[in-house]
Amino acid sequence: MPSFDMKTVVIIFVLVNYSCAYLMAFTVNAGRKRFEGSAYLLANFVLQSVGMTLALMRPAVPAVFSVILANTLMFSGVIAFVFGAAKFTHRHVRRLPYLAYVALFVALYCQYTYVQPDIRIRTLCFAGMLIPVFLHLTLLLFFPRQQDYRKHCVHTGTTFLMFALLYCFRVYYAYSQDGMHNYFNGAPPTDALINTLSLLLTIFLMYSIQYMFNSRLISEAESYASRQLELLETMERLATEDHLTGIYNRRHIEGLIRSEVEIANRRSTPLSLILCDIDKFKNINDTYGHDMGDKTIVHTTGLLATHLRDMDKLGRWGGEEFIILTPHTTLEQAAAMAERLRALIAETPPPDLHGRQQVTFSFGVAQHKGGMSTAALIKNADQALYRAKQGGRNRVECTPGA
Ligand code: GH3
Ligand code: MG
Ligand code: MG
Repeated sequence: MPSFDMKTVVIIFVLVNYSCAYLMAFTVNAGRKRFEGSAYLLANFVLQSVGMTLALMRPAVPAVFSVILANTLMFSGVIAFVFGAAKFTHRHVRRLPYLAYVALFVALYCQYTYVQPDIRIRTLCFAGMLIPVFLHLTLLLFFPRQQDYRKHCVHTGTTFLMFALLYCFRVYYAYSQDGMHNYFNGAPPTDALINTLSLLLTIFLMYSIQYMFNSRLISEAESYASRQLELLETMERLATEDHLTGIYNRRHIEGLIRSEVEIANRRSTPLSLILCDIDKFKNINDTYGHDMGDKTIVHTTGLLATHLRDMDKLGRWGGEEFIILTPHTTLEQAAAMAERLRALIAETPPPDLHGRQQVTFSFGVAQHKGGMSTAALIKNADQALYRAKQGGRNRVECTPGA
C-alpha cells in the first residue's frame, strides 16, 4: 500500500498538531485566567509538534535529537496534559513522580538506542508507558473535584480512554511483530493505520478541549444570569415591601395610588381609599412590650391582606396606620368593605395576646371624584379617620368626594 506510507501519515499528523497548537494558543490567550491549566494543554500540542518534526528529520539529524529528544518531547507533552487537566478539574497531581517517570523513559530510550538498539522495544516503551498516563487522564476527567464539572470534561476523558485502547493495541501489535524495521521506511500498513487513528484522536482531543471550555463558560454564564435575576428580584422586593409585614411600603403604595387616580381621572371610573389605624396601640406596646406590638401589627395586616379582593392593594402608611386602595369601588362599597374588616379584626384578636385585650381598628373612607388630586384624596381619607377616632374609635367614617 505505497500511498499509505508512514512518513506521509506522520507529516499530516505534524501539520495537524501545529494547527492544534495554533488554535490552542488563541484559546489560551482569550481566557488565560478563566481556563485553569490551558497553558499546559497548549504545551502538549507544541511538544507533540516539535517532537514529531525532530522525528521526521531522521536519519539526517543525529539520534540524540531525532530519537531521544523527539520521543521525550512527545512523551512529556502527554504529561503536560496531565498537569493541565489536574488544574482544570481542581485535582491535585504530584509532579515529582511524573518527572521521575520521564527520566525513566529517557534512560530506557538511551539504553535501546545506543546500548541495545531495538526499535520494537522502543515502541513498546513509548506506547506501554503512555497507557497508564492516558488512564490517569481519563480518571481525572471523569471524576473532577466538582461533580457538576463532569459534563464539561467527559468528552476529553473519553478521548483519552480511546487513546489508551489504541495504545494497548499498539503494544500488542509491536510485541507480536518479529524483528526490527525502520520506522518510516518499510513499516507495515498497520503501523500507519495506528498513527492515522492517533491523528484522528488528536482532532477529537482538540474538539473536546474546546467543548470543555465552552461548556463551562455557558454554565458560568447561566448561573451568573440566574444570580443576577435573583438579585434583581430581591432588590425589587426590598424596594416595594415593608420589612415587618411584607405588604407594600409607603413609597410603593403611594405610586400605585397616583397611577389609579390618573386612570380614574381619565376614564371617570370610581375609586376609593381606606385609611385605617390601630386603636390605642400605644397601650399594647406599653403593657405587653414592643415585640407584642410588632406581632399585633403582623397579625392584623395578615387579616387585612387575606380578606381583600385581588384588585385591592394594601400598604403600610405609617407605624400602625395602613392604607387600602380599592379601584372600581364606590364610597358605599368601600365603606361596607371597611365595616367587614373592622368587625373581623375586632373579633379576631392576635393569638399571642391570649384574649387579654381586644384589638380594634378605626377606618376613614374617601372616594375619588373627577379631577381630584392624590393628595386631596388621601387628605379626605385622613379626615374621615380622624372623625372615626374622635367618634369613639372601632368605627368607620366616610368623606364623600367633592
Ligand atoms: P390612637 O387610637 O389615637 O391611634 O392611639 P395610638 O396609641 O394607637 O396612637 P399613637 O400615635 O399615640 O401611638 C402609636 C404608637 O405606635 C407609637 C409608636 O411607638 C408605635 N409604633 C409605631 N410603629 C411601630 C412598630 O413598628 N412596632 C411597634 N411595636 N410599635 C410601633
Ligand atoms: Mg393608633
Ligand atoms: Mg397612628
